[in-house]
Amino acid sequence: MSLAHRPPAASAPRVAILGAGIIGLAAAFELAVRRGVPVTVYDPAPFGRGASWAAAGMLAPAFEAAAETGAHPHLFELCHHGAELWPAFAADVGAASGTPLGFSAGPSLALAFDRDQTAALHHLARALDERGIAHEELRPGAAHELEPAIAPDLVAALHLPTDGQVDNRAVVSALIAALRACPHAALVNEAAPLADEGNGLTVPGHDLILAAAGWKTAAIEVRQDGELYSLVNWDTSLDEIDCYGGQMLSVGVGPDMPAMTLRCGGIYVAPKAERVIIGATMEPGIATEAPEPDKIAALRADAARLCPAIADAPELETWAGIRPGTPDRAPLIGATAAPGLYVAAGHYRNGILLAPITAHIIADLILGQPVHALAGEFSPHRSYSPVA
Ligand SMILES: Cc1cc2nc3c(=O)[nH]c(=O)nc-3n(C[C@H](O)[C@H](O)[C@H](O)COP(=O)(O)OP(=O)(O)OC[C@H]3O[C@@H](n4cnc5c(N)ncnc54)[C@H](O)[C@@H]3O)c2cc1C
Repeated sequence: MSLAHRPPAASAPRVAILGAGIIGLAAAFELAVRRGVPVTVYDPAPFGRGASWAAAGMLAPAFEAAAETGAHPHLFELCHHGAELWPAFAADVGAASGTPLGFSAGPSLALAFDRDQTAALHHLARALDERGIAHEELRPGAAHELEPAIAPDLVAALHLPTDGQVDNRAVVSALIAALRACPHAALVNEAAPLADEGNGLTVPGHDLILAAAGWKTAAIEVRQDGELYSLVNWDTSLDEIDCYGGQMLSVGVGPDMPAMTLRCGGIYVAPKAERVIIGATMEPGIATEAPEPDKIAALRADAARLCPAIADAPELETWAGIRPGTPDRAPLIGATAAPGLYVAAGHYRNGILLAPITAHIIADLILGQPVHALAGEFSPHRSYSPVA
C-alpha cells in the first residue's frame, strides 16, 4: 500500500495544525501521509516561507549541539536521534512528492585558521569523544585533499561524518506537494478560526490543535467573547519563544567553489545543487526579514577567508529569516496547559534537523502511542537552567 493512501483509523482524531513551516508540515506529513490521521494545516502567509525557507539546511548534531554552552542537557541526544530519522524521512517525502531533496547524511568539515579557532575545534572534538560520536582531526593537507577550495592557510580541521545537509526549500515544497496529494490532509491559506467560547480552545471540525507557528506561536490569535487574545494567555510557557534574526546570501557554483559543507565559528558555507549558501548573522531580539547590505558584505568577506573563490562568486540572492529560540536553545514539544492544545515550536538553529523527530513525537503523543524516551525532556513546562 502506498504511503499516501493509508486509510484513517475510525478512531483517529482530526487535528488542526497552526503553521505551515517545516515543523507544522512535517507533523502533518507524519500524521496524514504516514499514519492516515486527518489534518488541516492553517497558515495566513505563503506556506513554507518562514524560517524554514530562510535556513541553510544543515543537519548538524555535532557542530550545533555537542559542545553548545548553556544548551538543554539533552539537546545533543535529540539532535543525534533526529539525524537518524532523516534518511527514512527524506526517502518517504521524496517518494510521496516525486521531488529530489538534496539529502546527504554527511560529512561536513569544521575549520580553524587561528589559535582560538583551533582551541574551539579541540573543545568540540573532546565533547564528541565524551559522547562516543565519530569524528577525525585532519591535518591541513588531508583537509585540502577532501576540499581543495579551502584557503591555503588552514591550521586544523575536524571531519564530522554525522553532519549532513538537505535542500530545506526543496523539503518544504515537497511536503506541501505530498500533503496536497494526500486525501487526509487539507492546506488552508488563512488563520485558523481558533476560539474559546467557554469550553476550551476549539477549531470547528477538529478534535485537537497543534500550535507550530515558529517564533509567532505565542501570538496566535484566539477569539473569545468577540475579542481577540494571544494564545500565550492559555499557556504562558509559549512566552519563552523569542526571535533570533539571521541574514544570509547565496552565490553561484563554479569550479573553484567548495563542494562540502564547511563550518568555522559562526560562519558556514553550505553548497547546494545550484547555489552556495553563506551564513549567517545571529541577532537576538531581531525580527526583521530585510537583509542589510553591510552585514551581507561582512558575511561574504568572512566566508572568503574560508574559501577565497567566494570573494568573486556572483551573488544570487540575499535574505533574512527569524529563528524561534528558547532560553535553553531547545524546542517546546508536547501538551500545553490548555486541554487538546499541543505545541511544537522554538527549534532555534536546528528546526530542519529536528523536523522528523518532532513530527514523530507529536504524532505519538496525539495518538496515545509509546513516545520516544527523550520526549518528556522537551515539555513546554520544563524548567530552564541558566544559559551562559
Ligand atoms: C538564517 C537561518 C539559518 C538556519 N539554518 C538552519 C540549518 O542549517 N539547519 C537547521 O536545522 N535549522 C536552521 N535554521 C533554523 C530553522 O530554520 C528553524 O528552526 C525552523 O525553520 C523553524 O521551523 P518552524 O516551522 O517552527 O517555523 P517557520 O518556518 O518560521 O514556520 C512558521 C509558520 O507559521 C506561520 N504562522 C505565523 N503565525 C501564524 C498563525 N497565527 N497561524 C498559523 N500560522 C502562522 C508562518 O507564516 C510560518 O509559515 C535556520 C534559521 C535561520 C533563520
